[in-house]
Amino acid sequence: MNINENFAKMPGSYLFSEIAARTEKFVNNNPDKKLIRLGIGDVTLPLADCVIDAMKAAVDDLSKSETFHGYGPSEGIASLRGIIAKSDFIEKGIDISADEVFVSDGAKTDCSNIVDLFSLDNIIAVCDPVYPVYVDSNVIAGRGGTYDASTQKWSDIVYMPTTSENDFVPAIPGRPADVVYLCSPNNPTGTVLNYDQLKTWVDWANERGALLLFDAAYERFIDDSEGNIPHSIFEVEGAKTCAIEFKSFSKTAGFTGVRLGYCVIPNDLTRSGQNLNKLWSRRQNTKFNGASYIVQKGAESVYTDNGKAQIEKNILYYKNNARIIKEGLESVGLQAYGGIHSPYVWCKTPAGVGSWEFFDELLQKCYIVTTPGAGFGPSGEGYIRLTGFGTHDNTSEAVSRIKKLFA
Ligand SMILES: *Cc1c(COP(=O)(O)O)cnc(C)c1O
Repeated sequence: MNINENFAKMPGSYLFSEIAARTEKFVNNNPDKKLIRLGIGDVTLPLADCVIDAMKAAVDDLSKSETFHGYGPSEGIASLRGIIAKSDFIEKGIDISADEVFVSDGAKTDCSNIVDLFSLDNIIAVCDPVYPVYVDSNVIAGRGGTYDASTQKWSDIVYMPTTSENDFVPAIPGRPADVVYLCSPNNPTGTVLNYDQLKTWVDWANERGALLLFDAAYERFIDDSEGNIPHSIFEVEGAKTCAIEFKSFSKTAGFTGVRLGYCVIPNDLTRSGQNLNKLWSRRQNTKFNGASYIVQKGAESVYTDNGKAQIEKNILYYKNNARIIKEGLESVGLQAYGGIHSPYVWCKTPAGVGSWEFFDELLQKCYIVTTPGAGFGPSGEGYIRLTGFGTHDNTSEAVSRIKKLFA
């Protein structure tokens, strides 16, 4: 047999293995130094009590034949789909119904599997820097073209630079594009798109017959007191005929290891005369047998008053860390972005210093691990990403080390 040759075209996943290798080398050479990891894209606080209680009760359900559950609907259990539609949309004035909600084991799964629905000749557009999953899943399917190691770009993919020069707002691409990935609040830049900026994209997609894939994994980190920032693309007029939205319980409710997410595909969304909600239902029923019953019950508890309060507390804890990082960087004259509606701070490196060079400097002199921006795409060069997912004490300690370095 022959394998899918697109795998052979892909460059190795250099970023996290290289960070690990440099960090390990530093630790081996400096066993007495206290390392602080601010590169992590994973939560650290334990699950809320309500989630633990709900999952324990669900395990008990499975222990008795009267309440046992085997295979559930591949779209998700009806009670959870109803709660999501009601709490995340209808109560916020967004008209989305339970049959437009598809529960899954996470947003990474959904935003990579969704490419099953698209013709191979579609042109994909992504922001640069970017969450790498959007690019790689299309490359595996055969929509990448050829990879140029010198530019770090795929010939058939349209890259939309989002940097401080354009205030991290992607411009409508000059080349034609059929499927556009947008992520707000953004990973890695921590920046957001406001209503008017999203409306421009929605109007463009409706006119062109293009499709927007909107990743809202960090939606709960949005601070409503600052600017008109949609929590959902479906707040934007016209989005139901041009957009799919991805949500996750990972960063908002600490489910990174538990696994749960969902996507919303409106009933009004059609392309080439086909209803995308029906196509996705068909795809999921073919390839997926539903998320775990135990985990779905855990997710339901996140929507109780108690659950909402508990996860809000954790999000504020991470956001406070991000604020401390951002303010600390700014206090020594560095330019930092994000960190307000997001756990991520995107920091410009000092003039003339590359991403990896700055990574090394912070590792060697401050014993802090960050993520070099260049790992997220060519336009990420000249930046590093720091996260608020550490502990408060470690975050404060790291910031005071950076302040000393630049004093
Ligand atoms: C973490 C992350 C996700 C992944 O979420 P899971 O639900 O854990 O699969 C999706 N999109 C972005 C941008 C992320 O940073």
